[in-house]
Amino acid sequence: MKDKNVIIIGSGFGGLAAAALLAHDNYNVTVIEKNEQPGGRASVWKKDGFTFDMGPSWYLMPDVFEKFFAEFGKKPQDYMDLIRLDPSYRVFFDKDDYVDISADMEKNLDLFEKLEPGAKNKMKEYLRMSKYEYDIAMKDFIYKEYKHITDFLKPKLIVEGTKLHMFEKLDSFIQRFFKSEKIRKILEYTIVFLGGSPYDSPALYSLMSNVDFNMGVWYPMGGIGKLVEVMYKLGEKQGAKFIFNEPVEKIIIENNNVVGVKTIKNEYNADIIVVNADYAWADQNLLDEKHRSYSKKYWEKRKIAPSAYLLFLGFNKPIKKFIHHNLYFHNKWENHFIDIFKELRLPKEYSYYVSCISKTDKNTAIKNGENVFVLIPVAPGLIDSEETREEYFERTIKHMETLTGENLRDHLILKRIFAHNDFSNRYNAYKGTALGLAHTLKQTAIFRPRHESKKVKNLYFTGHYNHPGIGVPMVIISSQILKEIITNK
Ligand SMILES: Cc1cc2nc3c(=O)[nH]c(=O)nc-3n(C[C@H](O)[C@H](O)[C@H](O)COP(=O)(O)OP(=O)(O)OC[C@H]3O[C@@H](n4cnc5c(N)ncnc54)[C@H](O)[C@@H]3O)c2cc1C
Repeated sequence: MKDKNVIIIGSGFGGLAAAALLAHDNYNVTVIEKNEQPGGRASVWKKDGFTFDMGPSWYLMPDVFEKFFAEFGKKPQDYMDLIRLDPSYRVFFDKDDYVDISADMEKNLDLFEKLEPGAKNKMKEYLRMSKYEYDIAMKDFIYKEYKHITDFLKPKLIVEGTKLHMFEKLDSFIQRFFKSEKIRKILEYTIVFLGGSPYDSPALYSLMSNVDFNMGVWYPMGGIGKLVEVMYKLGEKQGAKFIFNEPVEKIIIENNNVVGVKTIKNEYNADIIVVNADYAWADQNLLDEKHRSYSKKYWEKRKIAPSAYLLFLGFNKPIKKFIHHNLYFHNKWENHFIDIFKELRLPKEYSYYVSCISKTDKNTAIKNGENVFVLIPVAPGLIDSEETREEYFERTIKHMETLTGENLRDHLILKRIFAHNDFSNRYNAYKGTALGLAHTLKQTAIFRPRHESKKVKNLYFTGHYNHPGIGVPMVIISSQILKEIITNK
């Protein structure tokens, strides 16, 4: 069994985790990656003394990483210097109107009480429920494969699902606890990490408050790129081989069984193929129609998670008002969600996220400089033009100057804008999505695309389209589930 050849298409976190796990289990693993480096959405861009993490920047759910590295008898700290950030992040509501979410729970409870009298106790109750949801979800829902609808609709899960507020929307759930708009925004924003909207995602995702308030926000020194490097080396150490700059063009199938792949340069034989490349894209582009698990119409009907305007900015001075993680919430913030999820149009009023990893990690910027990464979530599938990129850059830098009260433009020495077309060109992202498949109730668990092909033997998928979903920890879990499926065959 174990000396089978496995080809993994793509070296995002899904591909890296699958490579290390399967190679550890004595499969002959070869990872074939389209780009010049591992990490996928978590690529690293270095230029002129600045080092940018091009995708994820929040190291959340440390328990998931611990569980993953434990499979190899290791801890994340064996490879990385992990720091708990304090404050965890800063939330701007307007110029001179911001709050810091602390690593100290008492400080947060006092802050909530200031924002809404009585909120301290409500927050304690909310966080108690959030922790309960997280624990149950991790124990019974997340690390689990859903093959048949009956796996999902078991009486136990329905009872638990109701207790976990699976069938209620996040916004209405939070409104039952808090009246303060500021508190609601703070608690609801984390759903954006999962590519969702508080008006459309199950209230189960209030478990994200357990993630950021109770478990904390962490940073691996060297950035998320350091985590990529660690997982890549871990895979190599287990015996996995990596090939870069070689896009796969076709999955070769004979008698409904995989036999190999064709890349732009070579052909490779395989007994098992794992697709980590964008599921929607790969299903439609690497397979003939008769071998696809899902139709074009199926993909068109899915709620695809947002794309983003990303700004990678290098400044030749520190920006005082920003800390490591900063969120700006527009006062008409519902409009931004409507534009992203309902109207699928560019937002007029928008919230955005600013990360300055150089606040914690001086090596990521030039001396006395600042490494600034800005993320503006926008709908997938929009037309991406130079004019709109520049327009959003102009509006955002102007707004950041208002928020910080500082002249930024004259200190900008490096600028790159990354948007829909880049997501599509670099990662083969369907509709230029940054995050894959959104987390709505109808796209949860069994309702997400399956790990195992419906049509072709020994063909599997892993990554942010699969269960459990979006985010580095979720994608790693997706590959842990995948490994169980493959090894239990
Ligand atoms: C801007 C941004 C910010 C984010 N912030 C966070 C965060 O703070 N915290 C967090 O936990 N998560 C965050 N996420 C989400 C997280 O990054 C993703 O969920 C995760 O990295 C996806 O991993 P993946 O393996 O599923 O896919 P990908 O990373 O997309 O990997 C797929 C790989 O397949 C390769 N590929 C595609 N086509 C081919 C082909 N034909 N041949 C060979 N290879 C191919 C691609 O090049 C890529 O390397 C963020 C994502 C983005 C984009």
